[in-house]
Amino acid sequence: MIEKLVIANRGEIALRIQRACRELGIKTVAVHSEADRDLKHVRLADESVCIGPASSAGSYLQIPSIISAAEITDAVAIHPGYGFLSENADFAERVEESGFIFVGPKPETIRLMGDKITAIEAMRAAGVPCVPGSDGPLSDDKQQTLRLAHDIGYPVIIKASGGGGGRGMRVVHSEAALLNAIALTRAEAGATFGNDTVYMEKYLQNPRHIEFQVMADTHGNAIHLGERDCSMQRRHQKVVEEAPAPEITAELRSRIGERCAEACRQIGYRGAGTFEFLYENGEFYFIEMNTRVQVEHPVTELITGVDIVKEQLLIADGKKLTYAQSDIKIHGHAIECRINAEDAVSFIPSPGEITRLHVPGGPGIRVDTHIYAGYRVPPYYDSMIGKLIAHGENRNSAIARMRTALSEMVIDGIKTNIPLHQEIMKDQKFITGGANIHYLEKKLGL
Ligand code: ADP
Repeated sequence: MIEKLVIANRGEIALRIQRACRELGIKTVAVHSEADRDLKHVRLADESVCIGPASSAGSYLQIPSIISAAEITDAVAIHPGYGFLSENADFAERVEESGFIFVGPKPETIRLMGDKITAIEAMRAAGVPCVPGSDGPLSDDKQQTLRLAHDIGYPVIIKASGGGGGRGMRVVHSEAALLNAIALTRAEAGATFGNDTVYMEKYLQNPRHIEFQVMADTHGNAIHLGERDCSMQRRHQKVVEEAPAPEITAELRSRIGERCAEACRQIGYRGAGTFEFLYENGEFYFIEMNTRVQVEHPVTELITGVDIVKEQLLIADGKKLTYAQSDIKIHGHAIECRINAEDAVSFIPSPGEITRLHVPGGPGIRVDTHIYAGYRVPPYYDSMIGKLIAHGENRNSAIARMRTALSEMVIDGIKTNIPLHQEIMKDQKFITGGANIHYLEKKLGL
């Protein structure tokens, strides 16, 4: 087994990775910024290396510093977590060229999936359903472009092939606005992503966000672990996630999930990954693949019993998948609330010292967090400070357990979005299930 691993991340996911390493007997090296010396996983790590100042650009995004940290500690592997360098193909390449194991897919796979047009081409070839669209980059032929949009039907969305983080997209409602919108998106994409390739898709008006978790090993095996519904979003950021997705039948799950697993086999995928879809009127439309572990992976872990991070490490070590598709059974329902250090109404970040902390517990409750009483939430990073996850025999029981857990949770000294989660857990539409991606913002009056 891998002897020692560098955790190239911070916060709750760094601790999550460390826990999986402990279980497998892997020693951990925490790399951290000057602002993160007091992180829980840094204190618990076998070794730690300070790799730079508070700013992410000078620390968690510094490829040479992370690789040097692996070299001086004699580590064998590097786990990128999510965010930061996790989907940076150049990073994965440098890690491998330097002789370390990258816990994730091959660099060329990250590159293929990082470009939306090549990703869609690969998915279409594998039989994964995609949004009707231009099937590739838009040309300079204006008449052809106008005809294409007419055939797809308005509204359409113009998207940058190199886009990400919800940027580089423009919705067009009428023919009169089309050519201008394409020119604007192209110019922005060129300036922001250094790639002015754009493509066109049908704009789905009221979809849900449903994604499939996959795992693939280096021996040609790939399975899916069912889906998650992440439609409760604000500014394209997920707020609440759940698994399984309301209304999705076992037949549909296995049909789409199997297509995702097959796509993994075809592209030689390695490790954990997620296929993101928009779901509208009973149809799935692929939008992108995330080539890393996701924030919301615990809901899938709770309903399948699979430890996704442990499985990532075993795959990186060259082992075969522990599970065959027929071993994957769904038990009950799980919901995750992302706990952020922010005002529950204004969403303004609220860093500072946590003076008192009471963490909920009891049947079906899991808390993934790095915070502790006396910990100071720094102002430099994402405001998520943990995840509260509830599992029950069915959706109603998971919601009931989540409500109790939220009422037990006390985080003093900073503001959190717990009141927002309490609102959502008693919202009639959420309780019914199946709200679309615009629901939460409309409810909040945004
Ligand atoms: P990014 O990589 O920037 O996150 P995505 O392709 O995942 O971009 O799209 C982000 C969000 O934009 C989606 O979750 C959805 O809300 C919206 N979106 C993207 N494509 C479409 C589409 N064809 N129809 C409707 N909404 C879309």
